[in-house]
Amino acid sequence: MSSVKENLDMVREKIKNSCNVSNRKIDEVTLLAVTKTVDVDKVLEAIENGVKDVGENKPQELARKYEVIGDKVNWHLIGSLQTNKVKYIIDKVYMIHSLDRIALCEEIQKRAEKIDKTINCLVQINISKEESKHGIYKEGAIDFIKEVANNYNNIKIKGLMTMAPFTENKDEVRKVFRGLKELAVEIDKLNINNVSMEYLSMGMSNDYEIAIEEGSNIVRVGTSIFGARNYDK
Ligand SMILES: *Cc1c(COP(=O)(O)O)cnc(C)c1O
Repeated sequence: MSSVKENLDMVREKIKNSCNVSNRKIDEVTLLAVTKTVDVDKVLEAIENGVKDVGENKPQELARKYEVIGDKVNWHLIGSLQTNKVKYIIDKVYMIHSLDRIALCEEIQKRAEKIDKTINCLVQINISKEESKHGIYKEGAIDFIKEVANNYNNIKIKGLMTMAPFTENKDEVRKVFRGLKELAVEIDKLNINNVSMEYLSMGMSNDYEIAIEEGSNIVRVGTSIFGARNYDK
């Protein structure tokens, strides 16, 4: 099995190639190392090799690792977030990638206000409209974003996030990423107060190269860095 360092080198090489073919600068793209189920030792190994952003999908796991690793990296919460778990991460996260409903905004606002912090959030969009996926449909995105911007002062919307369908069909995957980019451009034109479309979080181990070609600037990569996950440890 290759080391975390070798894997990181390979992923970075591929990111560089994708940037080259799409005429983008490599430093525009953040590699977010997805560390769910990965032991702290390995996370530290990734950090020693230049990783500055890590993503977890379970609030308590994020909190546990944060206690050991601390603030030397940016902590991202990816994947669906239950309102009763917000308390575990509110003082630790750099950005939440899964803002997808008003009830969650209420809870984030309440907790963030208490500690006088503004929370960076990405709105999760379900472009492909698969029922199994979280996120709001693109048709509802603008109303949702306006509502958040008007009512929740401690939430700062910084962009959009999506997940591509699990399919070998690259055209279908590309269409989803392109759809998210188009939506971000549309929203950006509205100049909504307190909202920016700075980040597009899209692309995982299977599809981050396509995502970069379609405008992603945060790729969330786990398996290609740390190997296949073992969930029953
Ligand atoms: C697990 C996960 C990833 C990383 O997936 P890999 O296929 O292991 O790269 C990215 N985004 C989200 C939301 C995830 O839950």
